[in-house]
Amino acid sequence: MATRVVPQKIIKNLRYKTTTKPLNASHPSAAATVASLLEKQPATTPPPPPPSSQQSASFLDLNDAERLFSAVPTSTLLRSSAVLHATAIGPVVDVGIWAMQSKLLQMGIMKDAVMAVTKRTFYEHFCAGEDAVAAGRSIRSVNEAGLRGMLVYGVEDAHDNEGCNRNLNGFLHTVDVSKSLPPSSVSFVIVKITAICPMALLERISDLLRWQQKDSSFNLPWKQDSLPIFSESSPLYHTPNKPEPLTQQEEHDLNLANQRLQQLCQKCVEANMPLLVDAEHTTVQPAIDYFTYSSAIMHNKDDNPIVFGTIQTYLKDAKERLFLATQAADKIGIPMGFKLVRGAYMSTESKIAESFGYGSPIHDSIEDTHNCFNDCSAFLLEKIADGKGSLVLATHNIESGNLAAAKAYEIGMGKVNHKLEFAQLCGMSDALSFGLSNAGFRVSKYMPFGPVEMVMPYLLRRAEENRGLLAASGFDRQLIRKELGRRLKASIF
Ligand SMILES: Cc1cc2nc3c(=O)[nH]c(=O)nc-3n(C[C@H](O)[C@H](O)[C@H](O)COP(=O)(O)OP(=O)(O)OC[C@H]3O[C@@H](n4cnc5c(N)ncnc54)[C@H](O)[C@@H]3O)c2cc1C
Repeated sequence: MATRVVPQKIIKNLRYKTTTKPLNASHPSAAATVASLLEKQPATTPPPPPPSSQQSASFLDLNDAERLFSAVPTSTLLRSSAVLHATAIGPVVDVGIWAMQSKLLQMGIMKDAVMAVTKRTFYEHFCAGEDAVAAGRSIRSVNEAGLRGMLVYGVEDAHDNEGCNRNLNGFLHTVDVSKSLPPSSVSFVIVKITAICPMALLERISDLLRWQQKDSSFNLPWKQDSLPIFSESSPLYHTPNKPEPLTQQEEHDLNLANQRLQQLCQKCVEANMPLLVDAEHTTVQPAIDYFTYSSAIMHNKDDNPIVFGTIQTYLKDAKERLFLATQAADKIGIPMGFKLVRGAYMSTESKIAESFGYGSPIHDSIEDTHNCFNDCSAFLLEKIADGKGSLVLATHNIESGNLAAAKAYEIGMGKVNHKLEFAQLCGMSDALSFGLSNAGFRVSKYMPFGPVEMVMPYLLRRAEENRGLLAASGFDRQLIRKELGRRLKASIF
């Protein structure tokens, strides 16, 4: 086991430093240079013992490509390299996005051709398979490499009760599949509330909740106990006029949506499988938070959060909302689980705000977003070290990973290991995933499954996110190329 002593000065600097810049292999951060590797722990073994205080800052070794990718077959590395290099070429992505969205998809031979190419490239790289059984196989394989899987049934929005019922069955089946996989190889089942409650109803509920935030005397008879959804600074421009109360039909549909979510939560409670609720754009996010928090109040007990919410730290009000929700959860004595992300709907948010004549609710600079993510992460790490709640740090940002790892060690990794999960999307930032796992953390890959057509909106977001030479995938591109070169020279295939 190779370890090095980390000077206290570095630990101190990491604690207060929240400004981040993307890193690359040739300019490792101060933290990264302090390489302190614990032996790789298989995901199914118990957490490592608490490190001594001398080992207690992070140091993800992200430069040793051979070690990082030791569990990845050459064929997978070759495909990853090809896909990530293709996404680095802007015009290639533009053509790909055009082809995936185009009406060509609706036409016989062209449709088959576009689907086939998409499937062999983007889809196989970013997705876990066409159905839950195939996804299960992918989860077994990431688990053998020391990681865990978040099982994601890849449906997005539903518009009527029939669609919602169909989607619910998919989510329930996902929980069944998770039970059939090796213990603890699945860290979470993911749900999108937009798939089990009609979108129009989510918009209506969000409007009503916003109006109640403006006018506390505004009565919402259907509202159950929840945690705070807004802060003083939350944008409310989506609801300029007082909304009509829910109609009888809407109340009926709300009951149905609630029943669907409770059925899923109950199944997760019985399987002891945490349920992670994804976050969407702000038009519907208040309703999603409402569903999440009211379910958490019902099902999160003792030291075992079953329902986890998501906080998008690119939003200016994220820190305040997180603070208010955790404070309220502490007050009523429920353990709350949060996933922290930066957020995936930047351009949608700007357009929505602009259509109401307002500025974007997203931080004015990327540095502010980085600071917000790192501050929220430090805040929640302190809380879980105090025994309150659980945390998923979902990021590809190397500096955020390093800072959080340092903080986790600083507060006593052994105390929080089972309450902290790092997560990256399938096909993205594998180097960071393996680096964190090698350092003794629990790490999951977010693994969507479903037919190509179903997961197309997700694939389009991934293509856009990895577009261009400067995308976060640049770091992985370099490392994969280095490892492929090494295997070629050594004739290892
Ligand atoms: C496991 C997992 C689950 C996720 N679930 C969700 C979810 O439920 N809902 C959701 O919305 N997102 C979700 N995401 C996040 C999203 O999909 C992106 O992957 C993520 O936001 C990219 O940020 P990063 O932390 O990886 O950091 P980086 O790789 O550093 O990415 C930074 C990116 O943030 C963006 N950005 C943010 N703020 C600004 C700003 N002020 N100015 C300019 N650019 C800015 C830019 O696009 C920039 O490229 C999830 C991510 C993961 C890994």
